[in-house]
Amino acid sequence: MTALTDTLARPLRDLRISVTDRCNFRCTYCMPKEVFGHDFVFLRREQLLTFEEIERLARLFLAAGVTKIRLTGGEPLLRRDLESLVSMLSALQPQGLTDLTLTTNGSLLPAKAGALRDAGLDRVTVSLDSLDDDVFQSMNDVRFPVARVLEGIEAAQQAGLSVKVNMVVKRNVNDGSVMDMAERFRGTGIILRFIEFMDVGTTNGWRLDDVVPAQELVDRLSARWPLESVAPRYPGEVANRLRYADGAGEIGVIASVTRPFCGDCTRARLSAEGELYTCLFAAHGRDLRGPLREGATDQQLAALLGRIWGNRGDRYSELRSAETRDRPRVEMSHIGG
Ligand code: SAM
Ligand code: SF4
Ligand code: SF4
Repeated sequence: MTALTDTLARPLRDLRISVTDRCNFRCTYCMPKEVFGHDFVFLRREQLLTFEEIERLARLFLAAGVTKIRLTGGEPLLRRDLESLVSMLSALQPQGLTDLTLTTNGSLLPAKAGALRDAGLDRVTVSLDSLDDDVFQSMNDVRFPVARVLEGIEAAQQAGLSVKVNMVVKRNVNDGSVMDMAERFRGTGIILRFIEFMDVGTTNGWRLDDVVPAQELVDRLSARWPLESVAPRYPGEVANRLRYADGAGEIGVIASVTRPFCGDCTRARLSAEGELYTCLFAAHGRDLRGPLREGATDQQLAALLGRIWGNRGDRYSELRSAETRDRPRVEMSHIGG
């Protein structure tokens, strides 16, 4: 199959696969407790794609041009035996997979890092929003301590995984933690990436005032540690890369709100129940599980994929406005970051 492009000539390169919609955290910007409470109905086991179904779809996506796969959630490490899926996917290098990674809140890494590495995972991204326990616990909202995420990061490094750290920055919530986080990870080989708080979903009470523009962060950081920009590794890289002039390593900023990058967006997202989303801000996905379970052939599934991507015209962040604010949108915990 020839590489697909959408209506804006964007190829399909990255696939994010959500393996569960459940999470052991209730980050206020992602799964606020008031919405994701005791009575929230999560997907049932039989609704989730099986590992075999995920692998089959992954092969078809690779044939359509995907080279990078990221496992996400919810919290992906809550999915039982995830290392088996990692092992099935890491065997797809001959099919064109060049990069397999995972985004996690880090809580289960001490138990899982070794098995993930043995299964063929090379890299992980760990989310951590502050080094201050009061701030971090008010954000994860389940009283999860910073020290245990740091243990997870250490376990990943010891297992031989390369680690990046993601920090979502919210004004007046954790922007006071930015300098401490930078200082903690300078010189460690870990790339810290600052993410602008996004209006994903409709439950996190997003307001533009809560966003700290990436440029403001770069100005603050470079006043203390001068920074130089680094060329992107590949077209469509979401993080703007910078390095400390004193040689203490690299950071990234993901300015999805103030500097949208839809023009280069080559990402598709597969939800845990097999719906394909062509934009993080889409209201609906397209069902792939139905055809898969009804016996569609690889050719039929590839043709469906081709139609979905070929019709894609999404560029929500470039259009973000009062009008788009009121449209329904899928929740982040449903399709991953
Ligand atoms: N549970 C895992 C974790 O937290 O790393 C993986 C799933 S989580 C949805 C993926 C990433 O999305 C995390 O780094 C998280 O901080 C980020 N995220 C969630 N909601 C966000 C929002 N409203 N704005 C920006 N980033 C967000
Ligand atoms: Fe869970 Fe990750 Fe969402 Fe936090 S950001 S609630 S850890 S899925
Ligand atoms: Fe891609 Fe949609 Fe984000 Fe634009 S808004 S960068 S199209 S996911």
